[in-house]
Amino acid sequence: MSYKDYMVRATAANAQIRAFAATTKDLAEYARKVHGLSPIAAAALGRLMTGTVMMGTMMDNDDDLITVKIDGDGPMKGALATADRHGNVKGYVINPLVIMEPNASGHLNVGGGFGEGTLTVIRDMGLKEPYVGQVPLYSGEVAEDFTYYFSKSEQTPSSVGLGVLVERENLSVIAAGGFIIQLLPFADDATIDHLEENLKKFTSVTDILKAEKTPEELLNILLEGFDVEITDKVDLNFYCNCDKDRVERALMLIGKKELDEMIEENKNFDVCCHFCNKKYTFSPEDLKKIRERAK
Ligand code: ZN
Repeated sequence: MSYKDYMVRATAANAQIRAFAATTKDLAEYARKVHGLSPIAAAALGRLMTGTVMMGTMMDNDDDLITVKIDGDGPMKGALATADRHGNVKGYVINPLVIMEPNASGHLNVGGGFGEGTLTVIRDMGLKEPYVGQVPLYSGEVAEDFTYYFSKSEQTPSSVGLGVLVERENLSVIAAGGFIIQLLPFADDATIDHLEENLKKFTSVTDILKAEKTPEELLNILLEGFDVEITDKVDLNFYCNCDKDRVERALMLIGKKELDEMIEENKNFDVCCHFCNKKYTFSPEDLKKIRERAK
């Protein structure tokens, strides 16, 4: 697809339905490159970041942050994505190099990569304690896990679809995106029935991505027969806010004893950001200064 990552928000059926749809190829491919992700890991993180960045726009305040974390007992072990409400998202996979056989339907086996585990949603709204909700993994395929989370933890009937297409030859992400459709509490039976019919007819996000549809077109397919009103369009970006200062503060927390040992080795230390893999180099002199500031 030739356009840049973005998402749209919409309402339908007199605001009985709210809907989100996104194209996220650029950020999924960027994450694949900086983290050196295997195809399964690229698909897993692309799906997770797509769901998380759409959820981020549901938050109320400018400084709110949402983190969605998957922990599993499979070889990929887990993944994490953090987004704000302005379309900025970052993330990583715990074991980024996992290679597995395709699943029974011939697709990347993301569910097998994660195995059994949990999906945790952490909303940091600047209060003392973040809001945390957790559900067991439903299938580990990510979209179904989001759907399950919305129904169990937030009592919001939802349908979530997420897809990432990885090119077979050079393993790059050639398309990514997804949708979230939610029924609001006052939705009437006719609306619910019609939406269920549409969802039954819907094939998959991957099919839509292959056909190079825009997020708007994706919503028009899912919400066919409803009055759809696009209310908002948001640019999406892979964005990491790390800097040397933040990394220094993290180093201060590892303790004086460890810092002393590092200083004794008398060589440069590289610290890489988990989220964007940017490398920060600390000389023995730098480490001494950090040691002085450490508690
Ligand atoms: Zn970073």
